[in-house]
Amino acid sequence: MTTEQTLAISCEFFPPRTDKGVLKLHQTREQLQILHPTFFSVTFGAGGSTQEKTFETVKEIQKHSGFDAAPHLSCIGSTRENILKLLQDYQAHGIHRIVALRGDKPSGWAGHLGEFRHANELVEFIRTETGKHFFIEVAAYPEFHPEAHSTKADLDFFKQKVQAGADSAITQYFYNADAYFRLVDNCVERDIDIPIVPGIMPISNYEQLARFSDTCGAEIPRWLRRRLKDFEDDKEGLQAFGVDVVTKLCERLLEGGAPGLHFYTLNQAKLTLEIATHLGLIVNA
Ligand code: FAD
Repeated sequence: MTTEQTLAISCEFFPPRTDKGVLKLHQTREQLQILHPTFFSVTFGAGGSTQEKTFETVKEIQKHSGFDAAPHLSCIGSTRENILKLLQDYQAHGIHRIVALRGDKPSGWAGHLGEFRHANELVEFIRTETGKHFFIEVAAYPEFHPEAHSTKADLDFFKQKVQAGADSAITQYFYNADAYFRLVDNCVERDIDIPIVPGIMPISNYEQLARFSDTCGAEIPRWLRRRLKDFEDDKEGLQAFGVDVVTKLCERLLEGGAPGLHFYTLNQAKLTLEIATHLGLIVNA
């Protein structure tokens, strides 16, 4: 892989809750700037629980990094008025990229579901209210969304989001490249022609990864689970093995035509940088 190819590299953060976390994210972001990412994105807590911190983090990145910041915006539990206010605030701060999502109900939440049912309604709302101002990213699922009634329905609903005005998609993470390629083929069959950027989760901790995967429906293949489990307390060994596995996954994806890579960094730079180095993505290193 050469740097002349214009790959869409992006890195995802969550908004830190503490001053220490803010400092750590600042360092992480500075380290990752060597990747010359298309954007840094910042997640939005379920039901809007991190709304202010997402906003603060996005503003800080946009103002100080020299790279685009893209807030995630989930609509579940929200109102048109609230979403419009957020969009206007982002516009006023020079943000022109957004990751538009339905989101999940926080566990134990008995609140109102809000005025938006699905992400396609949010995308449509953003386009109606702000025209072409925002470049809109949406979510895609190579292993299908856990609530999908059928694979066909999931793909048809994905197409609705694209028709509502999405410009690009980022996938849920996965460790099975064939699932991604199959998704891309299915999109081509449906005349969906936006870029679908694979979401990449570096492997840093087996228990944490297993927990995430059980929640979001991303599969850790049996062989990989068994191997990761065998590392037990050998964190360094596990991470080195994880870098090798994920680098090979990325190589296959890029060789197969993936338009870029979106790294779920969990606010840590080390593993993303190691994978990127193996892939030859570091500019001027
Ligand atoms: P949708 O596209 O609305 O799909 C959700 C489900 O509804 C699917 O099963 C789909 O098949 C079905 N569906 C879609 N449209 C319709 C329709 N019109 N009628 C009937 N059924 C429909 N969550 C957060 O809370 N904060 C984040 O910051 C965040 N960032 C994410 C980033 C990425 C790249 C990804 C892949 C996920 C992220 N998530 C985040 C998780 C996401 O919010 C959940 O996966 C959520 O359950 C679905 O969101 P969605 O936008 O894909 O929803």
